[in-house]
Amino acid sequence: MPEGLEAEIYRSAAATLVGRKVTAISVDSLCGDEHQLRSVINGRIEDVARHGKFVDIVTTRGVIGMHFGMTGRLIVDEIAAIDRLEYGSARDDRRWDRIILQCGNSVIRVNDPRRWSRYSLDPDHSSLGIDLLSSKRALATALRSASHRTSAVKGVLLDQHLIAGLGNLLADEVLFDAAIDPARSFDSLSEQNHLTLTESIFRVVRTLGRRGGSHTGRVGPAIRRVGALCPIDGVELQRRTIAGRTTFSCPVHQS
Ligand SMILES: [Zn+2]
Repeated sequence: MPEGLEAEIYRSAAATLVGRKVTAISVDSLCGDEHQLRSVINGRIEDVARHGKFVDIVTTRGVIGMHFGMTGRLIVDEIAAIDRLEYGSARDDRRWDRIILQCGNSVIRVNDPRRWSRYSLDPDHSSLGIDLLSSKRALATALRSASHRTSAVKGVLLDQHLIAGLGNLLADEVLFDAAIDPARSFDSLSEQNHLTLTESIFRVVRTLGRRGGSHTGRVGPAIRRVGALCPIDGVELQRRTIAGRTTFSCPVHQS
């Protein structure tokens, strides 16, 4: 978290300031180069775009690219687009503001206790894969292009160069839905597995988007603990580290 769905919520919150002029900016030195980002001052916000987990504030004087790390929350005019993130804090301590974009009377800021969010001027997204909200056809093509890979299915889903915007929670939810073991090697997937996986990405991303974010799935934060049971089979969920991330899956219906 934040994953592509949260970034989309942030994008839409920041888009309310399209047309405003940027009047001041301050940036935490660990998270971005304030001197460089100051070049957007006096630029007018023309658009707010999203690429996977990145949000771009497009101004007439350059683009501010934002990546939220694990705990960054975008806040517009003191309204948090999302109140709480899985690994974050509901507390809004102003000392945790890592970028503050003043636009006349309005403010866009990112509050990030862990300080892992990053900001850059005119970011290059050319290495990102297709967006998580792409068509089924585009998703199927992207998955097919990875069909020779021997890494775990979960790792392939998390690869931002393939599909941009899927994070840990969405990947677990997609594989839970597709009944595929996250640890299986990607090249072992059958033709039918590819179809199911495509359908699951398409459906899960949209369903969770409608419900309010990547934490609203069946293997969401509410049951991500030792001893939690599969809501389908009632057996204890497996907790493993796969592709470097904590992964929950069902040993019965996922194979
Ligand atoms: Zn199950």
